[in-house]
Amino acid sequence: LGPAILCGLIGTGIRASRSPSLHEHEGAAQGLRFLYRLIDIDALGLTPDALPALLDGAQRCGFNGVNITHPCKQAVLPLLDEVSEDARALGAVNTVVFREGRRSGHNTDHSGFAEGFRRGLPGVPMGQVLQLGAGGAGAAVAHAALTLGTERLVVVDSDPARAGALVEQLCARFGTGRAVAGDDTALAMRDADGLINATPVGMAKYPGLPLPAELLSSRHWVAEVVYVPLETELLRLARRLGCRSADGGGMAVFQAAGAFRLFTGREPDAERMLRHFAAM
Ligand code: NAD
Repeated sequence: LGPAILCGLIGTGIRASRSPSLHEHEGAAQGLRFLYRLIDIDALGLTPDALPALLDGAQRCGFNGVNITHPCKQAVLPLLDEVSEDARALGAVNTVVFREGRRSGHNTDHSGFAEGFRRGLPGVPMGQVLQLGAGGAGAAVAHAALTLGTERLVVVDSDPARAGALVEQLCARFGTGRAVAGDDTALAMRDADGLINATPVGMAKYPGLPLPAELLSSRHWVAEVVYVPLETELLRLARRLGCRSADGGGMAVFQAAGAFRLFTGREPDAERMLRHFAAM
């Protein structure tokens, strides 16, 4: 028998999460006995206030680590012994590793987006990029976009206060002027090399396009964050126009691959994980 690894996911609304399958499939392929449990706050009849108890429980029961999702990614920070520099700058942790009685926090959402982006859109111009959406995913994606070399990131959110708060955090980390909050999507698209959709628009629950179709042209690249469905209306439009594009599967798979590496100390086979994800 191979080494045993026990991990899980703490959050709400996680019943359909693909994380158990992604981790367990990769673990089995590497000869590990890998179990990944959903620690579903709703299903347990609890509220997010239960996070400290759930984290204690997982640590005491011998978990190697847990992923953390909505609405606990910020609340978990004060419960940790160490937080990686990038997770601290982002103010969000999605992976906690338990080792020798200590808890360390990491963020593989932003590195996952960055890896998916490099793989799906290698060499695209990064002068000006328009990002729609400044929520949880948007914060991770914006940090990744600037780390990837975006010269100027314009952030538009239908809630302008959210865009403003994210831009302030980005400028503090990356320098004044690297990110700006925008309110004129047409103007931002005129000068943009590419578009990142970090809104939920495109999911079955929120069908449609996150911006007017006529603002997109063949010279733009498009990076999508929505991954259910994998092919959103925005990606269909991008393909029709001949834009280079990347779907949301890259971020989903590479954030799991990053967490797998932290949990197990082993290198995941990202291509195998991508194939498994596509077959789900
Ligand atoms: P969220 O609710 O925290 O944030 C979404 C933001 O988008 C909100 O601030 C909202 O005001 C804004 N918004 C909505 N419609 C808009 C529009 N048309 N124009 C501008 N702004 C608009 O949600 P989230 O947690 O950030 O998730 C967003 C999406 O990302 C979801 O579909 C989620 O499934 C997906 N996601 C994907 C991955 C992945 O690995 N690929 C990871 C996390 C989240």
